[in-house]
Amino acid sequence: MKKNEDNLKAIIGHAKEYGFVFPSSEIYDGLSAVYDYGQYGSELKRNIKEYWWKSMVQMHENIVGIDAAIFMHPTTWKASGHVDAFNDPLIDNKDSKKRYRADVLIEDYIAKIEAKIEKEIAKAQKRFGEAFDLEQFKSTNPNVLRNQKKIDEINASFKEAMNNEDMPAIKQLIEDLGIACPVSGSKNWTDVRQFNLMFSTEIGSVADEANKIYLRPETAQGIFVNFLNVYKTGRMRIPFGIAQIGKAFRNEIVARQFIFRMREFEQMEMQFFVRPGEEMKWYEYWKETRIKWHKKLGIPDEFYRFHDHVKLAHYANAAADIEFKFPMGFKELEGIHSRTDFDLKQHEKYSGKKLQYFDPELNKSYVPYVVETSIGLDRMFLAILSYAYQEEKLEDGSQRIVLKIPAPLAPVKVAVLPLVKKDGLPEKAREIIDSLKADYYCQYDEKDSIGKRYRRQDAIGTPVCITVDHQSLEDNTVTIRDRDTMQQERIALDEIEKLLKQKVDLKNLLV
Ligand code: ATP
Repeated sequence: MKKNEDNLKAIIGHAKEYGFVFPSSEIYDGLSAVYDYGQYGSELKRNIKEYWWKSMVQMHENIVGIDAAIFMHPTTWKASGHVDAFNDPLIDNKDSKKRYRADVLIEDYIAKIEAKIEKEIAKAQKRFGEAFDLEQFKSTNPNVLRNQKKIDEINASFKEAMNNEDMPAIKQLIEDLGIACPVSGSKNWTDVRQFNLMFSTEIGSVADEANKIYLRPETAQGIFVNFLNVYKTGRMRIPFGIAQIGKAFRNEIVARQFIFRMREFEQMEMQFFVRPGEEMKWYEYWKETRIKWHKKLGIPDEFYRFHDHVKLAHYANAAADIEFKFPMGFKELEGIHSRTDFDLKQHEKYSGKKLQYFDPELNKSYVPYVVETSIGLDRMFLAILSYAYQEEKLEDGSQRIVLKIPAPLAPVKVAVLPLVKKDGLPEKAREIIDSLKADYYCQYDEKDSIGKRYRRQDAIGTPVCITVDHQSLEDNTVTIRDRDTMQQERIALDEIEKLLKQKVDLKNLLV
């Protein structure tokens, strides 16, 4: 436990020291759960966005992108259910005065039981070796069965209480399970109350209730209200998707854990419109497509798992999360939801406009069903950063900190380093940069020893360093140094482009 917390601390420290993420308005001591991206962070973020946008829009003939406004007509949020139901159950510990999400306290409790099961499985796996049969073990081992039964019972009570919006029942569950405040260890809890997560503000100069508008808590509604516009102007044929990247705002109750849970964050969402009745097929399709997108980055499989929702949101008939192994454990990174025709139907009802699709094959009109993929850009950033951050002991006993960011997403792709800052080497290095910089973000560095410069590039995750030395002037060759293996090889100048294409081109992730 301690180690993981330390690990997160080290990542936060590194992100700040190297210009990835700063606390927002830090000179005024920051603003809780709001962050700014620095010179390298904004590059990494841009690259993640590009990877998502190109994979979803450019690579799919039937998906187009939009960029809707953050402010929307307030009735949007009435129709979507957010005004009445975008609540989290909140509970305070009277001794520590700390505030928690009641559902998260219960989920964390379940996670501890799950960890016991995992431990039991790992032990047995070791004992039985090749002969180990996971399914048989899970269905016969008494400890696993007992713990699984406990999980199922908690989930059932939790689901019932949440569906009935029965806050006293949730408090009862917390008390029955003996859940204590992680800070004070006390079980002295307040009642559970619902708390709406939307930020509001006023539009125009007259501040009365009629002018109250919200900062969007999800980008999805900007897509739904534009369904008809895009379908008509884009001559779209079902099944088709509308994608969007943009800011969302939530007044989160518990805003710890760095950029995992922010009050202002960015989402990358895609709503896929399908024939009613075909939504499960597409739900499975998008689950598979999205997990492939993640795994293409080369982060090992054991960092990902699917988690099916116990309590479905008011609009969904199936939902699963892709969870990532963050330093604080497995947590939601992306959601894939089958949203039925709920949103479009609600907007029809509240706007009085028909939001239907005419299906030429079936020769009839209907309100399409929707499968949504929704990923937090900042969470994706944290996933990559926390995997990439590695402290390595080298053969000579020294240590290096390296960010093993998937190369096509790295902020700086190439650093060009003259061995010394004289004898025409800087000029040669500049020439190389000039030939590359239209395609790749390059950095020039001539200060300090070459070893120190390599370390600086490792710390920001630059996949390739090109070193120019005296021999380069004679035969037009340079040394290429690989970030991960630290191997060096000498290649001709005219081979650089080919090498970069192989190593750092985003295209490698798309095809
Ligand atoms: P959680 O249960 O963690 O609060 P959620 O289920 O409410 O998340 P969704 O409404 O499904 O999240 O939002 C889709 C995605 O947006 C999430 O998978 C996550 O990556 C991202 N996201 C949601 N809330 C935040 C936040 N406060 N900060 C950063 N990213 C967020």
